[in-house]
This record gives sequence, structure tokens and C-alpha cells, in this order.
Amino acid sequence: MKNKTLIILGGLFLLSSVGAGYIAPIIFLKWALFVTLIALFTLGIIRDRRSKLHLTKKTYLKAILIIFLVIISITITDIFKTKKNSRLCQGEKPEHSQYYKQNGIKNPIEFEKYIIDLHTASRFASITPDSIEYNGINYKYLTINYEPVNYTKRILIIASVHGDEPAGALAIPKFLADLEKDKNKFQKIAMTILCPMNPVGLALGSRENECGCNINRDYKVANQKETKHIMNSIKAARPNLILDLHENNGNWETCLMANTLVSNNFGELICNELQGYSIDLADYAFDLNLQIKGWHKRGAYREFINRLAGLNDLMWYGQTINIPVITVECDQSLPLDNRISITENTIKAILRNIDKL
Ligand SMILES: [Zn+2]
Repeated sequence: MKNKTLIILGGLFLLSSVGAGYIAPIIFLKWALFVTLIALFTLGIIRDRRSKLHLTKKTYLKAILIIFLVIISITITDIFKTKKNSRLCQGEKPEHSQYYKQNGIKNPIEFEKYIIDLHTASRFASITPDSIEYNGINYKYLTINYEPVNYTKRILIIASVHGDEPAGALAIPKFLADLEKDKNKFQKIAMTILCPMNPVGLALGSRENECGCNINRDYKVANQKETKHIMNSIKAARPNLILDLHENNGNWETCLMANTLVSNNFGELICNELQGYSIDLADYAFDLNLQIKGWHKRGAYREFINRLAGLNDLMWYGQTINIPVITVECDQSLPLDNRISITENTIKAILRNIDKL
């Protein structure tokens, strides 16, 4: 095996790590290249032995050193990318939040009306209201508890932790109104719903909360009122599953992400169920389309990188307290009504199958 070939393969391997992050197919590609590299290297040695062109000890060591350096550099790239994504506060007050402004999107939420609708839809359950004060205004959020007699499982649903991802918050009143009509549907499941979990952000159309902080990066220190509320609710409810309703800013396609406590079988089951709604969720990770679509479970490598980079989102927190977490990521480039129905149908599909978790 020539050193030159090794360097080229190493370079390809390194290039494939660019943009890795959460994108499972690229991570897959990276490892596929790694295996190819090792295989070619081994074959090279065998071939050289056959043709009696023995590799010198020096060449052999050089090749090992290249592979080692490539692995280290990929890991370091991934750590830095994740570190950037782990920052708690951007220092941007909600009024100056970027996404809606940059894309000329008008916040679809009329907050006062929304809270009234949410209250009405959850009247059959027990409601604990709370609020966050910002610039002299109180922004309400509700903890909705529904416990059918003889329930066997409990789910905890969190909506719109990122205020510029409104589909989750808007899906909850629809889901509850439907549940009230037919309570036999999910007879055995108790529900705790925290909604909207970034009320100031939802009202003002910002990803961050009233302090300019990303609530979903605050689970290690729990500085923010919203994070404390989420963590206390989880501790009190001890749910069998946490469902976190998000949207991505149109960069990926709709997908479900999970920590390692959710099985791949369950993810595939949910994706298959959602095909019935003409929701294109059914391509699984490793589909090599280089698109993030379908089912994505964090593997050991992702967990290792997240730990080193200090990423502490809800999936990480769930992992530390042994609770499965699924994050719904709706594609924000779709019309709002579609995103609301995708989110609502995903909740229902998960509830229908929760026994198979
Ligand atoms: Zn989000």
C-alpha cells in the first residue's frame, strides 16, 4: 500500500466528517470509509507480502499514524461543532431574535387568544397555570394533567421550548379537543403536558426565552425558570416517555430523534404508522440520501461527542435519569397547518404504540 493512497483515503475520510453533527447518514458514510480504509490497508499488506515487496516497519507505522491522526481530527471537529451548538445564551433579547426576522416570517401566534384556546381545550383535565414576567407583562404557561382511571403508562409532553417553533404549541389544543371527544382512545395513558414551555418566546416569536437563553441547553445547570419547571415536572411525573415537540428551521426534513433508551423498532413502527397520513417520515437513518428524514437515534459515538462538548439538551437529561426521550423535529418549510397535523399525528401514533416502547 502506497503512502500516497493512504493519504488520499485519509483525506476523503476527513472530508466526509464535514457536516457530520447529527446527520446520521454522513456519520454512516464516515465509518464506511473508515472500514474501507482499514480493509485496503490490510489487503495492501497481503498483496505486498505475496509479491515479496515487504513493507518496512517505518511505512507501517506511518500508515497507522495517519489513520490515528484522521480519527483524532474528525473527533475534534465534531467536538468543536457540538460545543458551538451547546451555548446556553446568545444574549439576544426576544425582540431581537433572528429566525423570523431573517426569513420575513410573521409570528402566527396571538398569545392571549392562544392561551384562552389552550385553557378551553384542556378543561376536562387538571390545569396548573404559571407565568413568566417580561417587561411588565405576565406570559402564561400551563401544566395540564390528565389521569384516566387505571392508567398503566404516563407520557410527558413539552411544547414549544423554542418560541419560534409554534407547531407543537398549536398542536396541543387540537390534540386535547380530540381526546375530550373520545376519551376511550388512550384509556390507559396518563399525560402531563407542559405548554407553551417558552411563553415569552412564543408570544414574541423568539427561539430564546426572556433572558436570551436557549432552554434546551440548560439541563446541566438549570439556571432558567422554564428549565427548572420542566425538570421538576419530570421528577414528579416519572413518565415512561418524554416527547419534546420542536421544529427545525427548514434545514432538514421532518424527523424523529431519540436518546439511546428508545429502541429502533419503536422508531420504525412510528415512522411506518405515519405513512398512513402521507407524512414522509419513513426513510430511516442510514438511507444514504444524505438527508435527515425519518428516524434518528443517537449512537454511542454521538453520546461520547456530546458528553465531551458539554451538550445538555433534554435527550441528554433523559439519558442521565434513565427516561426515554423522543424529539419531534417538524420541517418548518412546510405550511403551518401541515406541521400542526404532522405533530398531532405523531403524538397520537406514539400514544397508540406506547406499550411497545
Ligand atoms: Zn427546537
